[in-house]
Formats: sequence, structure tokens, C-alpha cells
Amino acid sequence: TLTDAHAATDAARVLDAPALWSAQAHMPSVVGRQLVIDRAEGSYVFTTDGQRLFDGTAGLWHANVGHAHPELARAAFEQMQRLETYHVFARYSNDKALELGERLAALSPIERAKVILNSGGSDAIDVACKLARRHWQQQGRPTKQVILSREHAYHGLHAYGTSIAGLPFNREGYGTESLVPETARVSFDDLAQVEETIERIGADRIAAIVAEPVQGTGGVNPPAPGYLEGLQRLARDHDILLVLDEVITGFGRTGEMFAAQRYGIEPDLVTFAKGVTSGYAPLGGVLVAPRLWEPFYVDAPETPVFRHGATYAGHATAAAVALANLDILERDGLVPRVRELEEVLRRELDALRERQEAVVDVRVAGFLGGISLDERLVNERVADRAVDLGVITRPLRGNTLQLSPPFIVSDREVVDYVAAIEQAIVEEA
Ligand code: PLP
Repeated sequence: TLTDAHAATDAARVLDAPALWSAQAHMPSVVGRQLVIDRAEGSYVFTTDGQRLFDGTAGLWHANVGHAHPELARAAFEQMQRLETYHVFARYSNDKALELGERLAALSPIERAKVILNSGGSDAIDVACKLARRHWQQQGRPTKQVILSREHAYHGLHAYGTSIAGLPFNREGYGTESLVPETARVSFDDLAQVEETIERIGADRIAAIVAEPVQGTGGVNPPAPGYLEGLQRLARDHDILLVLDEVITGFGRTGEMFAAQRYGIEPDLVTFAKGVTSGYAPLGGVLVAPRLWEPFYVDAPETPVFRHGATYAGHATAAAVALANLDILERDGLVPRVRELEEVLRRELDALRERQEAVVDVRVAGFLGGISLDERLVNERVADRAVDLGVITRPLRGNTLQLSPPFIVSDREVVDYVAAIEQAIVEEA
């Protein structure tokens, strides 16, 4: 029949897809409708078929200083001409990684922090969790192994990130328990439940709690008032390490260099990536508190070695780009600018919710917004429609749309962006 013939053509078309297998994609749905970006200018990206799109998500929340910045291109070019990289491994290091270490330690919400560098956020989470477990082993408390994370959390997809994922679909399918044993989820907004979970498992079994200060992929969920402070108190009372995952929030997204500073939290470990280079080079890392690093720095033969590292740890070109990116953030006053943009975004989203019945909730923390839609609308469809109207937003858990433009946009561009999303909502309703 004609339908069978159609199905056969479709199946062939899907099998004939490009060789490149995309991340987090239902491939049969993606084939033939990929948006292929081949260039950008500031807050705008251009597809290979010539469409100009306002990048309202800054890529995957990464392009904080905007795209295709010539100063960052130059930093990479100049560094590569001198030295592409030399590994920060055993006794070797490179000057750019050392300089970035000093710079990050000075910005860190942790006093006297040491800095471990690697290739991205998922890497950083693996390091933070390994270091947390290693810490308790070394303190002679080897039962403290469990890593707690919050419901709806996203911490990347390496081994630990997969295992502590609070979005179940990212955890499933790799075995009967999880990739890494001894993980558990706690409530994302209810401290009494967190405490119950700690008591049920036993603090003598728990190494660390990992939390995004503002949940990103889980639907843009700012912390309930008092939640992070409460989490910190519970962690301290039970001798549990607090890991803040600042992969999205780090480097200005909440209007402070780190969200820990905005919310007044002093974590033991901070993971970062994305904004450290604005995505111009793959780089992530961990800021480490003295109680964790000091035992590795005791001047004695029996002092242990933290057995972690990789070829690209402290990649010199990535570090050079990060230094140039931090220069831009500081010179152009982009972090204070985020606080102004936050107010514009809040005003626009509050007005949107007033006008549109289908908008059930809006959330803003820094220059990071979420719009939750009611069940009459499907966020994927609205996001697709928004692209037709020239703007990028991203569907997230909870029928939510993500808004996280680069920090370089004008107030007017924020207004126009929300207006375009509103039009997409109206057209889809
Ligand atoms: N942690 C958080 C909070 C993230 O949002 C992400 C990525 O979106 C990651 C970790 C993983 O980072 P990467 O994709 O650089 O591995």
C-alpha cells in the first residue's frame, strides 16, 4: 500500500542519516530537520540555510560573552602558536594553567581554594565525587561513600553524573542499580525530607550532597527561600560535604561571579565549566576547600596522591581562552549587567504570565528564566515555532522553556525575545 511505501522510504531516509550521532536526540525525529549552525555574531547564530536566530539560550547556557568574539579567537590563535598545551600532570605544568589557577582561586567563593582543571562539567562532577569519597577514606571513615543529589538534578553524563542524575531517564539502562553504586536522591525543595533521607541512610554512610544552586535542565528551578542555607546546615550538622554544581551558574549567570556568593553559601567543592571560557574551548574544573586539599599537601613521604588526571587537564589553549574571557567579563562589567538584565527579564515574564493563561508559572534567577506552560501546550512545539519566528528557546522538564541569553544583549532584545516566545505560545495554543 501507499502507507507501507511511505514507511519504507522513511525508514531508509532515517538509516541514511549523517554519520554524526547527536546527543540526547531521538534520531528518527531529528534526521532531516537538524538546525545546522555555521556562524555567529554576538547574540545571533546563522544556520547553513541562511536563517538568523537570536540565541536566547546562549547555546547550551555557555556563550555568556556572546558568540564569535574576536578577542577570544585571538587568544586561542596566539596561544596555539606558542604552545597548544602541555599537560598538568605529575611534575609538568604550563604557564597558562597556573595563571588561570591563581585567577580562579581569587574569584572563588571558597577561601584558599585549590583548583583542578579538566575538560568540562561532566568531568568536573566525576572529580568532585571521587575527591569527596577519597576524602573520607583518608579520614579513616571508609563507610562514608553515598553521594546524594536532588530530584530533577542534572550533573552531566559521565559515570558519576549518570549515577546521580535526578532526571531518571538519564540514569536508567546501565544496570540494576546505577553505574556507580551508592547514590541516592533527596527532595529538591523540602528540607525536612532531605533530613529524613539522611537519617534513613545514616550520616556515617554519606560522603557528599551535590546540588545545582539554580536547577537548570530540571526546569530552571531557583532555590526555595532558605533551601540552600538549610542544605548547608544539614551538611555541616551531619559531617557531609557540600558540592555546588555551578556549571551553569558560575561566571556571572546569577549576577555574582558564583551563585554561592549570591546565596551566601560556603561549599566544600564547586564544579564549573561552560561560562569559564564562554564555551570557546572545552574546559571545566573544581574549586576545592582546604579541608579537602590539605592532606594531599603535607610535606611527608607518606602523603597520598589524588589519582586523577587526563591529557587535557589544564589545557593551555583552553586556559588562555578562559583568561581572556574573564578579562572581557570584568572589563565590560558583564556581571553587574546581569543584575539589570535580571530585572528586565523578570518584568517581561511577569507581564507575560499576566497576559497568557497558558503560562502557569515563570521563574527568574539572575539572567536565567523559565516559562512553564499548561497541558494545552507542548513546550517542544512552542520551541520549534519560536525558531520559525527567529528565536531559540529550549524545552526542559516540566513543560518549561529555557531563557538564558548572552550577557551582551540590550534591554530591547530581551523585550523582543519574550515577545517572540509569546507569539509562539499564542500560535500554538
Ligand atoms: N552540571 C550542570 C549543572 C550542567 O548543566 C551540565 C551541562 O549542562 C553539566 C554539569 C555537564 O557539563 P558538560 O556538558 O560540560 O559535561
